[in-house]
Amino acid sequence: MFSYIDPSVVDLLLREKALRHVDRRGRDLTAGGGEQPYLSILGPVPMPIGLEGGGEATFQWHAFVRHSEYDLIGEVAERVRRDERRDLVPLLSTFMQVSSILTHGDFAGAEAPLVRVHSCCMTSDVFGSRRCECGPQLHESFRRIVAEGVGAVIYMSSHEGRGIGLWAKAVTYLLQDMGQDTYEANTALGLPEDSRDFSDAAVILHALRPDRPVARLLTNNPLKEEDLRRGGIQVSELLPLVVGFSDHNRRYMAAKRSKGHRIPPGALDPGSPGAPDPEPSDDEER
Ligand SMILES: [Zn+2]
Repeated sequence: MFSYIDPSVVDLLLREKALRHVDRRGRDLTAGGGEQPYLSILGPVPMPIGLEGGGEATFQWHAFVRHSEYDLIGEVAERVRRDERRDLVPLLSTFMQVSSILTHGDFAGAEAPLVRVHSCCMTSDVFGSRRCECGPQLHESFRRIVAEGVGAVIYMSSHEGRGIGLWAKAVTYLLQDMGQDTYEANTALGLPEDSRDFSDAAVILHALRPDRPVARLLTNNPLKEEDLRRGGIQVSELLPLVVGFSDHNRRYMAAKRSKGHRIPPGALDPGSPGAPDPEPSDDEER
């Protein structure tokens, strides 16, 4: 179960170039070098993905994590192995915040591929909740990338609830049902409205597309574009991703627009193309 702590497995992965360490500019340091390692990257793992509406397409999955966390977990693993500290074992599976990039087609060679930087949202992505539009955005991203023949979804694992985590997100939902909007609910907990940092997405793009720091970004959120630009990625085009609106999330979407998200006026009106799920109104944000 914990075979990854065995150094011989790490050696095998390194030999096969399935484990790499890169610096902040995505430059490979596995072969040695003077720079500070920043991300550790595992993969690629071929992954057939079922598409909403039918069909499937193969993506290549890389898992990535901050090297500082990888290092720390390596030390814990070594203590478990050497000193038989079984009490440390639970740390091994919970400590690292592992994000993912799923690429399709000739991602390294494409001129300016479609990229979706997606914040983890268990309630919508996994449960299918319509309190937000994350799940439909994720599925639509896969669909558009496959339709173009090339692109990537970057799935940021530590971004649940705009960075506050799943437990606090559940609290904010309860507060929202008492009348607060999605941003007020975060600040009521003494937490930032939005603490997400998309800079690691820029690093993984550099790592997988060396010397081609260009992307067309699928997003309504200007913060993502800013973080990628700051990380040295040229965003050659911003493509809106207006899907998944419904009466369940109209107030939530309006709050996002008030914070700068590029949601076209009228998209929130009942019956508009941006509101494809007409349903009886809950009369309150969910
Ligand atoms: Zn969501």
